[in-house]
Amino acid sequence: MVHHYACPLCSAEKILIHLNCRDYFLSGEPFALFKCSDCGFVFTQDYPEAHAIGSYYESDEYLSHNDSSTGFSDRIYRLARNFMLHRKKRMITKITGLKKGKLLDIGSGSGHFAATMKNGGWQVTGIEINEKARNLSESKHGLEILDPKKINTLKTASFDCITLWHVLEHFHEPFEYYAEIMRLLKPGGICVTALPNCNSYDARHYREFWAAYDVPRHLWHFTPSSFAVFSKKAGFATEKIMNLPADVFYISFVSEKYKESSLPFLRGIIRAKFYAIGAFFRKEKSSSIIYILRKPAEK
Ligand SMILES: [Zn+2]
Repeated sequence: MVHHYACPLCSAEKILIHLNCRDYFLSGEPFALFKCSDCGFVFTQDYPEAHAIGSYYESDEYLSHNDSSTGFSDRIYRLARNFMLHRKKRMITKITGLKKGKLLDIGSGSGHFAATMKNGGWQVTGIEINEKARNLSESKHGLEILDPKKINTLKTASFDCITLWHVLEHFHEPFEYYAEIMRLLKPGGICVTALPNCNSYDARHYREFWAAYDVPRHLWHFTPSSFAVFSKKAGFATEKIMNLPADVFYISFVSEKYKESSLPFLRGIIRAKFYAIGAFFRKEKSSSIIYILRKPAEK
């Protein structure tokens, strides 16, 4: 188990218990969230080490890695995903100012986003830890997907854009990873990082049942202010923050299920509608946030 005696983000020693969560998705085991009194960073405490966490991902239902489940929630998830893939592509084109470029998608899962970009004319490489997902992406979409251990074989300053859609929260060594991202980006290149926001309207309502805590798979629980500390330490300039409004619907529905509410789908949708309207006016309260980071041009 990994135990933090100080804040993993700012190294302050005053860290206090924040919430007692549970792995509702798979093991049912309890995990505590701690919060730094100095910078406000929330993180999972006493989580399995990198070599031991694999068993917490071993479920056919783990959506980022599986495409064949037919449950109601999975179908809803896939419907929303396909809608969002094209929005993401438009977003990348607009932010980078490039119609075609070189993109690295870290945590590429089943390869849907990477495939969407490839079909749009981009030269795409993926990084994915799950071998089954790697093979599927290669056979189904003809993508080039590498094992994370091979990231150091990629050429320095060779990518226009690097994307991490909900993956940073899974990394045991987040700073080392962002140093590698900095190396791989061209000067002025863009890093797109999407993360759940534990200061969102839905997180504050569902508390320990909030589906995006997803312990112990999610180790770090960022907010716009704690991510600003992280990205600055990693040497990036934050250009802007954006949101994808579909995430809150799925998260609210699953959170209602974890709460064992009656009619979780209906309740989730109704609540999520209010949260989505609120987040339209206050992006920093959105269920998940996309941070657009830029590598300084002179680096
Ligand atoms: Zn701190």
